[in-house]
Amino acid sequence: MSYDKSRFWHPMLHPNDMKQRQPIRVVRGDGCYVFDDQGHKLVDGVAGLWNVNVGHNRPEVKQAIVEQLDELEYFQLFDGISHPRAEELSATLIDMLKQEDMARVSFSSGGSDAVETALKLARQYWRVCGQPDRTKFISLKQGYHGVHFGGASVNGNTVFRRSYEPLLPGCFHVETPWLYRNPFTEDPEELAQICAQMLEREILFQSPDTVAAFIAEPIQGAGGVIVPPASYWPRIRAVCDKYGVLLIADEIVTGFGRSGSMFGSRLWGVKPDIMCLAKGISSGYVPLGATVVNQRVADAFAKNQDFGGVIMHGYTYAGHPVACAAAIANLKIVREENLPAQAAAQGEYLLARLKPFADKYAAVGEVRGKGLMIALDLVQDKHSREPIDPMGGYANKVAEIARENGVLVRPVGTKIILSPPLVIGQAECDAIVSALAAGFEAA
Ligand code: PMP
Repeated sequence: MSYDKSRFWHPMLHPNDMKQRQPIRVVRGDGCYVFDDQGHKLVDGVAGLWNVNVGHNRPEVKQAIVEQLDELEYFQLFDGISHPRAEELSATLIDMLKQEDMARVSFSSGGSDAVETALKLARQYWRVCGQPDRTKFISLKQGYHGVHFGGASVNGNTVFRRSYEPLLPGCFHVETPWLYRNPFTEDPEELAQICAQMLEREILFQSPDTVAAFIAEPIQGAGGVIVPPASYWPRIRAVCDKYGVLLIADEIVTGFGRSGSMFGSRLWGVKPDIMCLAKGISSGYVPLGATVVNQRVADAFAKNQDFGGVIMHGYTYAGHPVACAAAIANLKIVREENLPAQAAAQGEYLLARLKPFADKYAAVGEVRGKGLMIALDLVQDKHSREPIDPMGGYANKVAEIARENGVLVRPVGTKIILSPPLVIGQAECDAIVSALAAGFEAA
């Protein structure tokens, strides 16, 4: 079938956009590469959508999926029913998260689901603790937490919220610790202190006994790979502790190695109360999400004896056996091949090679990242740091030329985002650098 006959809407695109252009039709993937329907081989500089961490076409994962389909294609986890793969995967996750004192897993089918679960469980936690007024959420102005109504409500960037308002009441946003763009300071530690103080002030302004949780990504991904100053998260943890507020880490991008650590929170030495996981959990082979809660949260539910402690939340596809089987095989690879270390090493190399772009090309204001999460921040003017016009098409043009040079990168408004598979090698990193250089030379 030709694309012209297809009838689907592309996410986050105006329906008319595709009247003027042809899509990139990806028909096959292998390792760090994908192939389009014209036979072009492209370095997958985005790992699907931050998620194909072990690379495409891994026989171990495919075999686990096929074996699971032969054994049991589907059954549910409601009504006190279980199946071996959900048991095995939840045990694996708790084992991987021992350091964080995580105790229970609630499965779902993706990142937005995992965030929704986290927000609902946070509210219910306070109910079972006898503090039902603690219903509010605080998040960051550049944060991204998916597209369900809960996630959209705590999302920072207005573009994700505007068309769907009114959203959930009781959601408030504080300043992102973004060194490159903030009105306060150029000093990272001072910025961490200011932003943590802002959270504290907001909690006090709302009244602590009404605040359920603070939610943020350990490194903001979709917001433009914003790496916080080193003391930011420890300060945030301290503020949350001071007022009893739950700390939810949205590890949907940072989880399972992408940041160069197995979990993003570990980079900052912080133990969240709830963690949202998806993407790299199954490397995208089958959709899967998981929300993990620590002992504090699990104990509160366990102590509650009445109906209020019933978790009236759950998805038909929670713990889908095929997704769990894919995740188990995927996480085995992540651990055996030590992909967090691989992401740290290749990320450092790629970032070092891209950093000089900020001196070389007028449009590149800053190149920043951690592990294999990298953004090139595009500006009209390096001095004022005013971003390029997001509707001007410049980032798209650079990405198009990079593609003609054999590399798929992701233009997102005023940034170009890179998030290749964690199994990427130096040769592919070099290919990304050359293709982007060609893009900036010609755009
Ligand atoms: N949280 C974060 C940090 C994300 O980056 C994303 C997706 N990019 C989501 C939540 C939503 O995940 P999904 O698209 O799987 O629903």
